Formats: sequence, C-alpha cells, structure tokens
Amino acid sequence: MKTTSKIIILLLILMLFSTFSLANEEVDSLIHQINISSGIKKIDAHLELSFYCRRSNFDISVKQASIALQEAQKINNLELQAQALYYLGLANHYNDTDEKAMKYFSKALVIAKKTNKTKLLGELYYFIGSIYYLAYSDENEALVNYNKSVQYSLIANNYRILGAVYSSLSNMFRISGSYEKALEFLYKSRDNYTLSGFQDGIAWVNYMTGTLYSTIGLFEEAEKSFKEALEIYLKLAAIDGNMNGVAICYDQLGVINTDMNNEELARNYNQDALNLHTQSGSKFGISNSLKYLARIEYFSENYDAALIYLDSSLTIKRTTNEQKGYASIYELFGLIFIENNEYSRAIDSLEMGLYHAHLNNQLKNIMNMNKHLAKIYNSLGQYDKAYNYKSHEVSIADSIYNSNITRNMLQLETLYKIEQKEDQIKQLEQENFIQELSLFRETNLRNFLIGILFLLSIIIFMVVYLYRAKQRANIELAKSKKQVDEINATKDKFFSIISHDLRSPFNSILGLSNLLKENSRKYDADKMEKIISAIYKSSHASYALLNNLLEWSRTQTGSIKFSPESFILIDVVKDVMDLLSNNAAQKDVHVSYETKSLSLYADKNMIHTILRNLVSNAIKYSKPGGRIQINYNQDDTQTLISVTDSGIGIDQASINRLFRIEDTYQIDGTAGEKGTGLGLIICKEFIDMHHGKIWVDSELGKGSTFHFTIPDVI
Ligand code: ADP
Repeated sequence: MKTTSKIIILLLILMLFSTFSLANEEVDSLIHQINISSGIKKIDAHLELSFYCRRSNFDISVKQASIALQEAQKINNLELQAQALYYLGLANHYNDTDEKAMKYFSKALVIAKKTNKTKLLGELYYFIGSIYYLAYSDENEALVNYNKSVQYSLIANNYRILGAVYSSLSNMFRISGSYEKALEFLYKSRDNYTLSGFQDGIAWVNYMTGTLYSTIGLFEEAEKSFKEALEIYLKLAAIDGNMNGVAICYDQLGVINTDMNNEELARNYNQDALNLHTQSGSKFGISNSLKYLARIEYFSENYDAALIYLDSSLTIKRTTNEQKGYASIYELFGLIFIENNEYSRAIDSLEMGLYHAHLNNQLKNIMNMNKHLAKIYNSLGQYDKAYNYKSHEVSIADSIYNSNITRNMLQLETLYKIEQKEDQIKQLEQENFIQELSLFRETNLRNFLIGILFLLSIIIFMVVYLYRAKQRANIELAKSKKQVDEINATKDKFFSIISHDLRSPFNSILGLSNLLKENSRKYDADKMEKIISAIYKSSHASYALLNNLLEWSRTQTGSIKFSPESFILIDVVKDVMDLLSNNAAQKDVHVSYETKSLSLYADKNMIHTILRNLVSNAIKYSKPGGRIQINYNQDDTQTLISVTDSGIGIDQASINRLFRIEDTYQIDGTAGEKGTGLGLIICKEFIDMHHGKIWVDSELGKGSTFHFTIPDVI
C-alpha cells in the first residue's frame, strides 16, 4: 500500500500541475470576458470569476464580487447587488471568516426578500444555517434556517441546495446519535444531488455515509463508502485541482483502518492526507490528520509520539477556534494519560472534553467521556463517582440507541415530516399522472383493438361476400351454360326439324302434285283420287308439324303469355274429345273420361294443348279396338290428371329419352301416322310453367299411362 499510495500521490501531483494550468486558463478566459464586455454582462463576468475562485482564491473572489457590487449599485440593479453580496459571503465562509460571511449573507437576504428570489433565498438560508451550526454551534438557529432553505429550495427546484441541507441535517442527526434518521437524510441528500447532477455532492454523501457507518462500528461498509467517495473526488480533482475531498477520504480511511487494527495502512492514509492538507493550507484538515495520527500512535502504544501529534492538533484548532474538534482531542488526551497512569491529568482532560462535548451536543463523545471517567474512578476506588459516571454513560447509550430525540431533534422531526408529506403529495401526483397515462393508454389500446376488430369484420364480410358472389356467379354461369346448351340444342332441333321432318312431307307433296300435273289427262278418276288424298295427308302432316313447331318456338322465345284462371276441367276434356273423336273412331279406339266436375286454377289453353297432345298420342299408338281412359284426382295440394292407353307401350330406355329436346325420340303411329317429336316437349314446357310434373308409366306391348300434376298454388 505504501508504494501504491506514493504512486497515487505522484499521479495526483502531476494531475494537479495540469489542472492548475487548466484552472489558470479558465481564470484567464473569465478575465478576458470581463475585459471585452460592458454593462450588466461585465458585472455578470465579475460575479462569475468571484464564484469560480470562492474556494481557491479568497482575494480574487472578494475583489471581483466587490467590483460587481459597486457596479450593480451604480445602475441600481438589486438582483445583481444581492448576488454580489452572496458571493462575498461565500468567499468569507470558505475562508473561515464566518462573522464577515454572516454580515454579507444577511445583507443579501434583505434584498433577496424584497425581490422575492426564491433560489437565492434558499441558498442564503442554507449558508446562514451552516454558519450557525458550524461556527456558532447554535443548533436551533441552524435548524430554523435549514428549514427555510428547504422551503424556498423546494419552490425553486434547487436540488443542489436541497442535497446540501439534507446532508447537513444528516450530520446533525448522526452527531446527536439518531443514526437511522441520519441515514434517511443521507438518502434524501443523495437523491437531490443526483437530480442536480452535482458530483461533488454525491461524493460528499458517500463520505458522510462512510462516517455514519464508522460511527456505529460498521467498518467494512464505511470503507466501501469512503472508497466510493474517493473515486469521485479523484475525478473531480483532476478537473478543478481541489484535493480537499481526496484528503478527507484518506483521513477517514486512516481512521477506520485504525479501528480495524491495520495501523500501518492507517498511518499511510493519514500521512498522505496530512501532506495534501498541508499543500492546500487547510488548517482544519491538518489538525484533523494530526489527531488521527495521534490516535494511531495511541493504539500502537507509542504514547509520546501520540502526545506530540495531539498537542499540535489542539494548537491548530485553538488558533482557528474550531471548538467542535476539542472534545475528541481531550478524550484522546485522557486515554493516553490513563495508559500512563496519570489519573488526575486524565480526569482533567476528560472533564474538559466533557464540557466541550456538552457544548456541542456531541452525544457519543459525552458517552465515551463518562465511560472513561467511570473507569478511572473505579480504579481509584471512588465507587460513588464511578457509579455516577457509569449511569450517565448508560443513559446516554440508551438515548443514542433508542433514538431518543431531544428538543432539537423534535424540530428536525417536524421538518422531516413536512418533507415526507410533500414527498407523498408528489408521489400521489405522480401516481395519479401514471394512472391517467395508463388509462389513456388503455383507452387507446381498446379503441385500437375495436378498430382492428371492425376492420377484421369488414374484411371477413368482404371475403364471405366475394366468395358468395363468386359462388353465385359460378351457379349463374353454370345456369347460363345450361341455357346456352339448351338454346343450342333447341336451335339444332329446330334446324333438324325444318331440314328433315318438314322437307319429307313437302317432298311427297311436290312429287305427287308433279305426277298430277304431268299426267292429269292420262290418270283415271280413281288414281287421281288416291294421289290427291296422299297430297292431302302430307299437307295435313306438314300443317300439324308447322303448328307444333310454331307453338314450341313461342314457348322458347317467351312470347306465350301465362294467364291462369279457374275453370271446370271436364269442359276442357270435352273440347279435346270433340276435336279427336273422329280420329279415335277411324282407328276404332274407344276413349272414356270421368265426368266428375273439378275446378282447376291454371292456364286453360295450355291444359287444352297438354290434354290434346296426350290423348292424340294415346290414339296414335293404340291398335284398333284399343281403349283410352282419362282420369283426374284432386287432393289438398294438387290435381293429378292421367291418360291411360292399351297401346304399344314404351321400353324403359326410350322412356328416359322422352321430354328432352336435345335427344328426341320418335316413332310412327300404329296406322303409320307421322309424329313431330315435339308434343311431349311442349307439354313439359307448359306443366313447368305451372310448377307441376309430368311422367310416364309404361310397359312395352301393354300400354302407357301419362300423368301430370298441377299444384293448387302455382
Ligand atoms: P309425336 O307423337 O309427334 O312423335 P311426341 O312428343 O308426342 O311426338 O311423342 C314422342 C314419342 O313418344 C312418340 O314418337 C312415341 O314414340 C312416344 N309416345 C308418345 N306417346 C305414346 C303413347 N301413348 N304410347 C306409346 N308411345 C308413345
């Protein structure tokens, strides 16, 4: 460690060298700024330089602030006057001339109150509080001022000063034995310093945390905190050249290593600290390092050396009137005298220490002093006195460890509670804000999801719709394809009928009439009659064919009007029989029909055509002597009409070909009557228009029954 520590010091000196030149550069640039500017800007530059030198160069700092004050007074600028007075106070405070500092701060305070500068007020109250505590040992006044500082600094969001106030309060708690509170204030201090980004402050809080742990005997934790503080102070020293932070860390590392019986290491730390304090000229630091070195020598039983260090330390503290430091020095004197068996000197020193410890409310010192005195009186056999001191020691120990709060501490407690409330309010506000934010986010998310759902449903709907439309289109396509096929078949059929069926009767008509034309004078009357009747037959067939063709084509072009009406079925049957009875008679076929009177709601002409076709077919395919029966049956939903004959019948394969235009089936009648092959197709068309059905039951050679139905509701 010794070599390491030497290397560190060397490095630091090197760093210091470079940082001093940096610091000089900074000062030069500020002086340049003063020279080139004028008016308020010039005053600002003076102030800036004063602030920059407040710790490092008292003279420059005071001079610059004084110039700024004069200039500000000339132009009657209160704000700048207050700032200049504040900086004059700061320079004096860091110069340990606190009386003067107090005067300047008080003057600045008057103006700051007038102009209501909350930030400045918070800062002034902090420094005034610190002077009351550190220089005047007036805890009450210190607390009053710290309290005000907190209030103004909270308004001004001055986290840096809040950090400083809390760390000072923590210090007060620690010294008076309220360690938990001390730690809580350290946390608050650290939070505020972190918020302000003030590294110096964070380092200081680490240092104070170390001190607190050290006070309660947690040396390893203390060492960790001091090293954390040291790390930051070293970085800062590299920037501003101020080694004070590094030195105080060394000092405390020395102290705890003494407590952990690492005297050699401790000696190095405190000696290094002493060197740094000497370089910076800090009397406070020097006297402390000497005290700590004395302590090491005391633990190492080098009592003479310890006394020399201690004498030097006390002398310096007396010159600076640092009364807070007296108690621990007198305590150490007492301890050394005890070891030397100089009890009366020991008692004197300890009583002196006790007096100062009481003065400064240094509870732990008071307790220790009582402990040592009890021990001495015990050794001297003065048990009454020994008992008194011991009971004091115990009661103080109780008050320390039970965190028994004094009147002053109660004030601090109040302050702490105010703080807590403000924190709670802030926290509540924060929570509220977070809640609102999350509510807002939830609503947004919900709306977003609803939007997505809505979009999805639209997409699903569109997909289904398009799918359906496509399906419909496919069906329509299939339908129209079927229609096209049918139309094509119809057209084919049409041409085949015209080219074939209609041509052959005309052929015979033309052939026969030509015979007549050529041989009219040659043929006798009989022959002539035969030929003329053949012409008539062919003409008749052609006419029937043309009629059917016409009727069928009308069904195909939609020009037949469907007009249903109520009528008596038997009337239509009779009409049909009137037309066909001759045919039947010629073929010796007997037709009979039911005479019951049924009412039918249908297209009368169509029913007429259907019946005519069916009965005429029955006659056509009946042999002489055949019988034909027309029946009808009506139920709740429809009327069934059947035409039964005892004719040639139809085989099953041919039945399947009936009613289809694309595949017509046709044979001649029993008396060679020519057919058209269109009759049944026309029948089916008409029955379809009524939403009815047509079918046939037939057996080859035995006869056929053609059925068709007409529903009641068409
Ligand atoms: P057409 O009788 O003018 O040839 P249809 O369409 O009326 O045309 O009849 C088609 C075919 O059905 C006929 O050629 C015949 O072969 C058969 N057919 C129709 N009615 C009967 C029936 N009552 N008995 C036997 N065959 C029939």
